[in-house]
Amino acid sequence: MIRIAIQSKGRLSEDSLALMGEAGIRIDEFKRKFLARAVDFPLEVLYLRDDDIPGVVESGSADLGIVGFNEVAETGADVTVVRKMGFGGCRLSLAIPKEQEYSGPQFFSGKRIATSYPNVLAKWLREQGVEADIRQIMGSVEISPAAGIADAIFDIVSSGGTLVSNGLKEVETVLHSEAVLIARKGLDEAKQAILDKMLFRFDAVTESEGKKYILMNIPTDKVSEAVKILPAMRSPTVMPLAAEGWCSLHSVVLERELWDKIERLKALGAEGILVLHLDKVID
Ligand code: ATP
Ligand code: MG
Repeated sequence: MIRIAIQSKGRLSEDSLALMGEAGIRIDEFKRKFLARAVDFPLEVLYLRDDDIPGVVESGSADLGIVGFNEVAETGADVTVVRKMGFGGCRLSLAIPKEQEYSGPQFFSGKRIATSYPNVLAKWLREQGVEADIRQIMGSVEISPAAGIADAIFDIVSSGGTLVSNGLKEVETVLHSEAVLIARKGLDEAKQAILDKMLFRFDAVTESEGKKYILMNIPTDKVSEAVKILPAMRSPTVMPLAAEGWCSLHSVVLERELWDKIERLKALGAEGILVLHLDKVID
């Protein structure tokens, strides 16, 4: 049995549970408690505030956790970052009132900076050789300059919309973050084996993201050119069709390259092109 801590409610909880679901690890939502058991996997889920996750994993009360890297950096917890999860992307940035001119890190010298991330900020200021007055507040950081509580803020930014609507502009990005899977140091062999099993499944899910399965009919004499356009996991599958001079070609393509490849394949004479959802990829 292995125990994973995830955010009980908030931006990361849905994606964390969805990823486990796609990896075939189901947790009965109706029975959602502080601690829940997976239905068909040797795993327990501990639902917590995100701030508490790194510490709980460091102390061993949970073996694993899914949490924003920003929280790992802020708490300084001694844990292993096992995987980046590909969701919950954001950054920790400094922002100032938009009418002010920004001259570089020295701008912050002697200024009051409101933040919920005092440790990450203090480290950055030290590195820049700047002394500022860090004001730790737990919420509504973005309104503090307008409220006269601070001269600047250090906060999470994703689209930047919140900053704009509060009359602020981002001037320094200090940390890029996304959700990460963390593990306690020194897992025993049995738990490590369960973790490896989970990672194998997570990787298959992540590997399928941004990819599509494509199949088409193509004149046999164009197959070698088409194969050059479609480098698959090993190489594309080519099967003869009943109609002479034609083949069926199957491959996996990156979604962002899909339309470009389809145009080139059509130009070669491909017909009946089908693009299908790819659920899992196991290399
Ligand atoms: P909790 O109640 O668990 O303490 P919270 O309010 O501190 O939750 P959320 O707002 O749910 O936290 O955000 C959780 C994590 O989601 C953040 O720590 C960060 O890693 C990530 N995140 C991604 N984009 C954003 C964003 N635009 N604003 C806030 N957090 C974001
Ligand atoms: Mg929190």
